[in-house]
Amino acid sequence: MTTRRLSRAEIVLVGTELVCGQRTDKNGPFLAMELSRAGFEPARITMLPDWRTSVAAEIAEAMDRGPALVCVCGGLGPTSDDVTREAVAEALGVGILIDGAARAQVRGRAARFGDVIDEAIDRQAMVFPGARWYPNGIGVAPGLSIRRGGTTLFLLPGPPDEMQAMFRNAVLPEIAGTGQVRFSRILRTAGLREVAVAEMAETVMSNWQALSVAYLPAPGLVDVVLSSDDGPKLDAAASAVRAALASGVYAEDDRSLEEVVGALLAQRFERVVTAESCTGGLVAELLTSVPGSSRYFPGGVVAYSNELKQSLLGVSRELLDRHGAVSGEAATAMAEGARSRLGAEWAISVTGIAGPDGGTADKPVGLVFHGLAGPAGVEFSRHTLGGDRTAVRTASARLALDLLRRRLTLS
Ligand code: ATP
Repeated sequence: MTTRRLSRAEIVLVGTELVCGQRTDKNGPFLAMELSRAGFEPARITMLPDWRTSVAAEIAEAMDRGPALVCVCGGLGPTSDDVTREAVAEALGVGILIDGAARAQVRGRAARFGDVIDEAIDRQAMVFPGARWYPNGIGVAPGLSIRRGGTTLFLLPGPPDEMQAMFRNAVLPEIAGTGQVRFSRILRTAGLREVAVAEMAETVMSNWQALSVAYLPAPGLVDVVLSSDDGPKLDAAASAVRAALASGVYAEDDRSLEEVVGALLAQRFERVVTAESCTGGLVAELLTSVPGSSRYFPGGVVAYSNELKQSLLGVSRELLDRHGAVSGEAATAMAEGARSRLGAEWAISVTGIAGPDGGTADKPVGLVFHGLAGPAGVEFSRHTLGGDRTAVRTASARLALDLLRRRLTLS
């Protein structure tokens, strides 16, 4: 328990422009990711305006919670709204004074940018007794760190490039080896809804204590991230979860679905062509985003109208009149037409209602059919997808690839 508590990290972002939505925060995600990699558990990210009393109160509370690290970004500059140093001095009950070496460094940096050296510039050289300061290699304001009990407090500049450089050059070397070793495994799934993935995983998860699991959904995909500080236990759990998720898992590393499908085709010296309606070329876009895809993707057809489904893919007018363009029959005929007309071992098709308009009681927005034609015949699948137009189209394109992936891994 103690070790876990000591390895927590908190991040405090200071800037009225961030809280008011005038700037998008870039420092929180960067720090959270880097601190996790270094073995710290980001426990809280707080965003505050440049109000000295609020910043002081937040820092006092963070120090009371006693994490291993508190990283504060922003408010170190020369202007009157830069209040972080004073707020920290107030929170810790320490004095604050100009450090001669820091002042020389700050003046040198400021002169380089043509700033007039005045009191405001020198304010950036203020440090607390017992604190360390770090030169800013990109901007002017130095960073600071001070230890209290088991907590180290870092003050870092707000501009993301300055903060990132200082984090890498000063903070990382200082915290290296002090975090908790944590192992993680990723199981990337396609074609399953998040609730289904969680249900399948939970059937075996109860056998493993002290294992944390995160489900990260994206349209058509769900990543399952398992982590633990016990490597062998994590390996055993990951094998069990992988078995429970069965054919839903397409990768256990950072490969994308389109890379996996491409590799499967390339291994077999086979090719796929596409026939797309509601995705408007997204399946082709995914396939061609992978370098070397010309080996297995000669091309595809975007047939949005019924006329082009007939003339380019040979779908019969009678079939479209009887079943509609959004139907298993149309998806099947589109895939068969693409396979025979474009000439490949495999053809995948997509037809559906991406919305927001065009849905009916029988065929609601989000209804999508995929066809897959191959050497052994043709099949289709049906999904009702949630989300807005972009989410429906993105999920549809991925599900088309997943239908082919599942067939290729079976045969
Ligand atoms: P400076 O010396 O430039 O004043 P500073 O440490 O005082 O640096 P701020 O004044 O808080 O930092 O911010 C400087 C610039 O960096 C502003 O344009 C601000 O919007 C941007 N910035 C600050 N924090 C973030 C953040 N978390 N994400 C993205 N941009 C940020």
